[in-house]
Amino acid sequence: VRGGTPGSNGQEERIFVSVRVRPLNEKEILRNDASDWECVNGNSIKFKHNLPDRAMFPSSYTYDRVFGSNCPTKRVYKEGARDVALSAVNGINSSIFAYGQTSSGKTYTMSGITEYAVADIYEYVDMHKEREFVLKFSAMEIYNEAVRDLLSSDNVPLRLLDDPEKGTVVERLTEVTLRDWDHLQKLLSICQAERKIGETYLNETSSRSHQILRLTIESSAHEYIGAPSTLVATVDFVDLAGSERSSQTSSAGARLKEGSHINRSLLTLGTVIRKLSKGRTGHVPYRDSKLTRILQNSLGGNARTAIICTMSPAHCHVEQSRNTLLFASCAK
Ligand code: ADP
Ligand code: MG
Repeated sequence: VRGGTPGSNGQEERIFVSVRVRPLNEKEILRNDASDWECVNGNSIKFKHNLPDRAMFPSSYTYDRVFGSNCPTKRVYKEGARDVALSAVNGINSSIFAYGQTSSGKTYTMSGITEYAVADIYEYVDMHKEREFVLKFSAMEIYNEAVRDLLSSDNVPLRLLDDPEKGTVVERLTEVTLRDWDHLQKLLSICQAERKIGETYLNETSSRSHQILRLTIESSAHEYIGAPSTLVATVDFVDLAGSERSSQTSSAGARLKEGSHINRSLLTLGTVIRKLSKGRTGHVPYRDSKLTRILQNSLGGNARTAIICTMSPAHCHVEQSRNTLLFASCAK
């Protein structure tokens, strides 16, 4: 049963939105830059300074969670992504995203979260011997609307196919059945190396490409009568391209026409998430980009999503930080 049965707890948030502020980095400290932002109560963030007259942006923003610069990734994971990741063991598709400008901490955050999530999933599997679990892993990168397999060294772009049952399928994508935790660690380092290779071919790809790590969890009950006996669901861990090139999220249509500098997938994702957060009435343009086509099953339907928006506290990044906060507000 792909996607599984809806959970009984219909009140749960479909899209859980957090903001994580990284510490000032060395360069920012050397420049005597300082933090513009103050985290309040674990779910608000406030601009510290007086706003100029008729400022066009609010000074305070509230989300499901706000993590300050001292907060370790483990806590970001526990409070911002754990439930969403674990819903896949019960057959509910899920996705976890990091969104933010380049160098705001997306990769730092997502790589930690991926490891904690897989460790928790393995722990769950160990504690539920009444079911038999199979975990599968695949990894891809989307750069300029071309999809690349991060577990294969041939650089042929992969095609997307429409499967009447499964939805969008990435043709010939490598899928590896995980033996254990160490096996995953090895695969993750292969992906990292493969992403680096891409980077040297094309300047700074990592800031312009999206990485999707996909864990597929299949389970079946040994002896269970009544409930569906086989569950299949995926968790997608998505490290998005830097948001700096597509900050005018509201004028997506116009900007898409501008051509190659604009990241079509990131803009479409913004539109899709805004539509979903408004109650998914009307047309959701999944088909407008590769990223949203691939993620359709882990975003729509009864899927659960966690978005972690990362930002620098530094004054020199205030414009981009505001854009990130506005994106996060739209996703709520
Ligand atoms: P991005 O993927 O958004 O471009 P990175 O995750 O590569 O950004 O982070 C940029 C740098 O900042 C890296 O050196 C990373 O280790 C560091 N960094 C990011 N977030 C944190 C954090 N919360 N705590 C400490 N260091 C961080
Ligand atoms: Mg990165």
